[in-house]
Amino acid sequence: MSNDLNVHGVLASLGISDALLPGAWAGSALGGDNAGVIDSINPADGTVLGRVALATSEQYEAVVSTAQAQYLRWRTLPAPKRGEIIRQMAEQFRIHKEALGALVSFEVGKVRSEGAGEVQETIDIADFAVGLSRQLYGLTMHSERPGHRMYEQWHPLGLVSVITAFNFPNAVWAWNAMIAAVCGDGVVWKPSLKAPLIAIATHRICEDVLAKNGYSGLFGLVIGRDAEIGERMIRDARFPLVSATGSTRMGRHVGSVVAERFGRSLLELGGNNAIIVTADADLDLALRGIAFGAVGTAGQRCTTTRRIYLHADIADTLTERLVKCYKQVKIGHPLEAGTLMGPLIDDDAVNAYEAAIQEAVAQGGRVLTGGKRVDRAGSYVEPTIIAMDHDLPICQHETFAPILYVGRFTDLDDAIRRQNDVPQGLSSSIFTTNFQSSEQFLGATGSDCGIANVNIGTSGAEIGGAFGGEKETGGGREAGSDSWKAYMRRQTCTLNYSRDLPLAQGITFDV
Ligand code: NAD
Repeated sequence: MSNDLNVHGVLASLGISDALLPGAWAGSALGGDNAGVIDSINPADGTVLGRVALATSEQYEAVVSTAQAQYLRWRTLPAPKRGEIIRQMAEQFRIHKEALGALVSFEVGKVRSEGAGEVQETIDIADFAVGLSRQLYGLTMHSERPGHRMYEQWHPLGLVSVITAFNFPNAVWAWNAMIAAVCGDGVVWKPSLKAPLIAIATHRICEDVLAKNGYSGLFGLVIGRDAEIGERMIRDARFPLVSATGSTRMGRHVGSVVAERFGRSLLELGGNNAIIVTADADLDLALRGIAFGAVGTAGQRCTTTRRIYLHADIADTLTERLVKCYKQVKIGHPLEAGTLMGPLIDDDAVNAYEAAIQEAVAQGGRVLTGGKRVDRAGSYVEPTIIAMDHDLPICQHETFAPILYVGRFTDLDDAIRRQNDVPQGLSSSIFTTNFQSSEQFLGATGSDCGIANVNIGTSGAEIGGAFGGEKETGGGREAGSDSWKAYMRRQTCTLNYSRDLPLAQGITFDV
């Protein structure tokens, strides 16, 4: 694909160039009625990229019942054979990586390398799932009773509903779907209404593979409104697991609705991530880690660096260097060469950015650089640094925009305490060359987050580790390590091969 990418070429190469795209896919697209039409908007210039017909309740039913029927067959397919089908999906994602990555840039404004990086994450998790297909291990235990054997096994769980946020419109679905599928589950996806085209393109790529292998509709897609489709989905007992990524506000509601019906929820919610820089840190590394963490994806990652705590000895130097670096960040069209920061997702996000800065200033913060909307078409803002003499109340909240609050410290205990002193608990980092400081940060009284890094920023996790956070981030874990266990049901089996029936704990019950 050439440098002068245009959206029509990208959409055509992904096979989604219809004027009005269907929002309900039970394998292939469902026609008929719709529950309204939405536009997919390019945040870089406000143009309409495509139009999508929202799913009706009847279409939702068709999607879920198709996925359910296919799941009943899929779960009996041996896991390594499921892995082989996922391998074919990974191959297709490799073929479509550039186009799909460009569509991520068009629809949610990520710069080109980040759009492609997101699809790479999908390929990585698919590869991981292929390997997992020959693992999914259970444990064996020693029984306390003679002539008995105990072990644990993992079975497919059922249908998984996957609710995704706008900011990772491809990879977050893949983290869930690839792992759920290798575990033997079916998946129904409800994407963000801010990124419907990527969802359709992604769905089609996988559906082609599933159809070729005789499992059309194992993955379903419903693009619909929260009040109708979202609410219906989280209440639907055919989903033993609801995996929801998004704001804490959404997760609080989804978690309680799913708990009410004794379903499981896997929640990946907002972050409020901090970096601590000690006096002995390598400041070149710290500068790069902070800049990518705070400015990358225009501050719209759950792992975005939102606060930094700098040791007083290096605070002035590092702040000065950061301000200089921020002034050089090239803001522009995400697909233009050299752009480091694209737009925010929409004007609501710009309004939230402006309101947060205003509030920070009212609370005593000082804007060192940035602070304004960029005067051009599209939802662009300047990356912003705000100095604070004390931790501002606004720092308790996640504003999904490139605003970085800078505080200083003299005592590491105090810095760690302040880092932890927010309701969210996703990602955290320390830049230090001191062994004791890094161990203190990683120890039980150190960072309280699900992710704790040393000499690496807060964003840009690899798929091999379990990803997720504590407190209001929701407690879920996705992607690598043993996150797959969330998508299966555990069964403990005890077999008696003796001719006696001894009871555990020495209990006697002679009849
Ligand atoms: P959002 O909460 O507005 O929406 C997320 C998803 O939830 C969307 O698909 C939305 O339609 C759906 N939703 C909302 N209400 C619902 C309901 N009642 N029933 C069913 N579905 C419902 O979030 P957003 O603005 O799209 O994304 C940004 C947020 O996501 C940030 O807070 C960010 O930190 C978080 N996020 C977290 C992670 C993580 O892994 N922890 C990853 C990406 C994004």
